Amino acid sequence: MDKIVALKHLDRCSKCGSCQAVCPLYAETRMEPLVARGKLFLIRNYLEGELGITRRMKELMSLCLLCKACTAQCPNGIPVDRLVLGIRQEIAREKGISFVKKNVFQHLLQNNGRLTMAAKMAYLYQKSGLQWLARRSRILEFLGGNLARKEELLPQMASRPFRSQVPQHFPCNRPRLRVGYYTGCLTNYVFPATGHAVIDVLRRHQVEVVVPEQWCCGIPALASGDEEAAAKLAQKNVESFLKSGVDAVIVDCASCGSMLRYYVELLGTEEAQRFSEKVLDISQFLADAVSFQPGEREVPLVVTYHDPCHLRRGQGVAKAPRDLIKSLPGVIFREMKEADRCCGAAGSFNLAHYDLANRIGRRKVQNILQTGAQAVVTGCPSCIMQISHLLARENAPVKVMHIAELISRTYLKK
Ligand code: SF4
Ligand code: SF4
Repeated sequence: MDKIVALKHLDRCSKCGSCQAVCPLYAETRMEPLVARGKLFLIRNYLEGELGITRRMKELMSLCLLCKACTAQCPNGIPVDRLVLGIRQEIAREKGISFVKKNVFQHLLQNNGRLTMAAKMAYLYQKSGLQWLARRSRILEFLGGNLARKEELLPQMASRPFRSQVPQHFPCNRPRLRVGYYTGCLTNYVFPATGHAVIDVLRRHQVEVVVPEQWCCGIPALASGDEEAAAKLAQKNVESFLKSGVDAVIVDCASCGSMLRYYVELLGTEEAQRFSEKVLDISQFLADAVSFQPGEREVPLVVTYHDPCHLRRGQGVAKAPRDLIKSLPGVIFREMKEADRCCGAAGSFNLAHYDLANRIGRRKVQNILQTGAQAVVTGCPSCIMQISHLLARENAPVKVMHIAELISRTYLKK
């Protein structure tokens, strides 16, 4: 963390407390050290040498959703999430990161072969009956640490990664644009249907699609303070996509999208800048870069929309997905209350702080149910996982789907 830059930001905090009203963590805990003002106070004390990195400090800094709600509310526009990421790097530098995280960020995520193998093992765990046995015997409950409930978060893994199901190139006669599709890990290993829908929608708009070799965007490593591992992944993605000569890099995951745009800051190179400038969320691309044409098939569904934090506040995309949804034949759109409030997923926050994430998510579920919608549409696979999990816990018969899947349903299948 650049101390001088950080202190300049910290100097601008007037301690007005406006951030308190919007912080989902504060709403649940009423703890001042968790709200932006409290966190900035602790960071300042650390930078001025008044506070060391204690276990408590580590815990408090891990308690942030990086949802940017405070920054959006702050009259001085203080980039709280950046400062929290900065202090997490300091913590990782001074205290190191856990053995498991180190291996995941520095070995597993850097190697697609190993990552695919790990996904395959998770799939076999689910399909071989082991998962059934583990749940039935309640062995995970005996192991403690909320393991049983965290295991419920494990989504149904795909039998084959999406990228191994499709060619690397979808040619097109007289294409309007040539785009590279960044699938992200969740679409690749968990939600291949989203990937097929994205390709379908792009091709119906006369767009040539390539799916270059790619790696995790690096956000899990960055959020845990391992900037070096994140930068290595970023460099590989930048090189691969620039080599493929695309006009735009299309993303279906809000978190990946905001991370890919952050590469310019992370790497600070001219290549990273060229790459980051090309990154567009699928809904923004459809609304702004091609004249969007929904299909003719009616989809009789009442839907509401959840704004992923990293799409609305991270990339400023909020109107485009709503406009797209409202234009679909048969679809009735109902806005939910607090649509832009975090669902509690926040990357792996829900794994590390399961109960708190669920408390935050319960408010989201109530807001969804109040609309009477049959489906929640969003633009982030991580939010889809969390909201599906929360709705299932409430036995609520509401579908959760990616916006590309909803759009794809309106096309008559060939
Ligand atoms: S809203 Fe901004 S200026 Fe006000 S207390 Fe929070 S961080 Fe400080
Ligand atoms: S980023 Fe979100 S969770 Fe973190 S302090 Fe700000 S409002 Fe609270």
